[in-house]
Amino acid sequence: MTEESLRWIRNFVDGQFVEPEEAHSFATIDPATGAAFASVHEADRTLVDRAVVAARRALDAGWARTPVRERTALLRRAADRIEERFEEFVAAEIADTGKPVRQARELDVARALANFRTFADVVAAAGQESFLTELPGGRRALNYAVRKPLGVVAVIVPWNLPLLLLTWKVAPALACGNAVVVKPSEETPATATLLAEVFAEVGLPAGVYNVVHGFGADSAGEFLTTHPGIDGVTFTGSSATGSHVMKTVAPRVRPVSFELGGKNAAVVFDDVDLDEALDGLSRSVFTNTGQVCLCTERVYVQRGIFDEIADGLVARAQNLRLGSPMDEATTTGPLISQAHRRKVLGYFESVAESGGEVLTGGGIPELGADLDGGSWIEPTLWTGLTNADRAVREEIFGPVAALIPFDTENEAIALANDTEYGLAASVWTNDLRRGHRVAHAMNVGMSWVNTWFLRDLRSPFGGMGLSGIGREGGESSLHFYTEPTNVCVQL
Ligand code: NAD
Repeated sequence: MTEESLRWIRNFVDGQFVEPEEAHSFATIDPATGAAFASVHEADRTLVDRAVVAARRALDAGWARTPVRERTALLRRAADRIEERFEEFVAAEIADTGKPVRQARELDVARALANFRTFADVVAAAGQESFLTELPGGRRALNYAVRKPLGVVAVIVPWNLPLLLLTWKVAPALACGNAVVVKPSEETPATATLLAEVFAEVGLPAGVYNVVHGFGADSAGEFLTTHPGIDGVTFTGSSATGSHVMKTVAPRVRPVSFELGGKNAAVVFDDVDLDEALDGLSRSVFTNTGQVCLCTERVYVQRGIFDEIADGLVARAQNLRLGSPMDEATTTGPLISQAHRRKVLGYFESVAESGGEVLTGGGIPELGADLDGGSWIEPTLWTGLTNADRAVREEIFGPVAALIPFDTENEAIALANDTEYGLAASVWTNDLRRGHRVAHAMNVGMSWVNTWFLRDLRSPFGGMGLSGIGREGGESSLHFYTEPTNVCVQL
């Protein structure tokens, strides 16, 4: 980041960075050290209004009618520019989240490039549906649907994978001809702001991409979702906030796309290749310190291999390297904030009250020096819990999992589906037919067999129940970010 943006993280409205106001600012904290590293200008209602008005003006001025090949060419240039400024994005993401440098490079920023390039391909290749309608008496008609941009889209994203989740929405929205007002998490404002620089550099018209910073209730988030000028909301965050946002847009009946929380299960059968399954399971529990909506927090293990899986996972948990994000050997970063750590520690207490047994972890690590001010937590595994316990029912969003035994396939399916969430599941077995069968039976948006978080960005992504409404990815994104007008011509 530049010297200037290190001191201030500014709003970006109508193609310009807005002069920050000291009186309306909050500090952003590096969760690895607990030190404040920048001031963020909190957008007030007037600034959010200016952003929405600018977005509408950009649409009307021609962005919505710009040929697809020009819009997608701009996305490709943005991807190329991020690639040129790759290490700046990596540094900004690390400053905000404390995540290990290897992950920031290989997952977060790499996926931003993939999001832009994939959606440029998907939108450029998209066709329109048409039907030749045959009526009695030999009359015929041609029906075809014209897809138009949804309009001004409010994009609200969380802190766990800030750039990845932001570009996952912004790329298809812009490719489809929408203008966006994005509200990054108050915890992680940096990369959305850096992206504004990139868009300005590649010549995206003013007003097509706007960034407003702030919190949710009575701040930029709510000012945005209640603004009468928005045509839809795409939101990733917790189920509770999603429910609230849904109420705020209900009076104006705007479409919503919701990617919400999860309480994801892994089901491990006794025919697995143990090492392969353990490596995959460990990744699914501990990636990003458990702060991925897709992370596994419930591991159901067939009784015959329960001890081997428990021992193998404990060994892998103890091998994780917590430490400075800039150290290439670090595998695991801190939680996002002290507040989030207090929430996770509350679940540690609830496990003790439920009579659960801690297999490993369960506390705050001592990492020494400047890291002691950070929001670190030990990777933690439990046994002795059941589906009735709070820590097995509620999303914790930390590097934690409960291991629970089962005997039969039907029992495993019932246990995994016994949740109000429905985001993701993984099934671990060497029996091909069982793998398919159990994966189908999971009441989730995404079911993996012998892997986890393996994504093809053209496939549908999202959840059911408390985990969300709608799907994004490939064609699903095109459906959300456009409105079809069906034209019927009598021939
Ligand atoms: P959160 O719901 O607290 O906040 C998400 C965003 O909403 C933030 O930008 C926040 O400022 C904003 N917000 C909060 N209240 C608002 C309001 N009243 N009106 C408008 N905006 C408001 O979530 P979080 O703690 O930032 O993120 C963690 C959650 O996100 C977890 O539940 C996780 O499972 C979920 N998540 C889901 C997915 C998915 O794809 N399903 C991906 C990542 C994270």
